[in-house]
Amino acid sequence: MIRVSLTLLVFIYLFLFLTAVFGLWIWFEWKRQRREKLAVRNRIRCTICAFEFEDNTETQLPRCPRCGSLNERFKFRTL
Ligand SMILES: [Zn+2]
Repeated sequence: MIRVSLTLLVFIYLFLFLTAVFGLWIWFEWKRQRREKLAVRNRIRCTICAFEFEDNTETQLPRCPRCGSLNERFKFRTL
């Protein structure tokens, strides 16, 4: 039988618990960022009228549905 002091037992319990919580936190945060990145992948903001729209085509210069100007594909940023 392995003899372990109560202090060491509490330390092991806290270490395992905090490691699990930290691991789950990292995992959920990674999933959230991935989901957010996928959501804004095809979103474009017009440089003339600041209208945001989705464009799923592969065209180099998508046309704004509101003002009709051509826009370059910049990486969309969220706050
Ligand atoms: Zn526009």
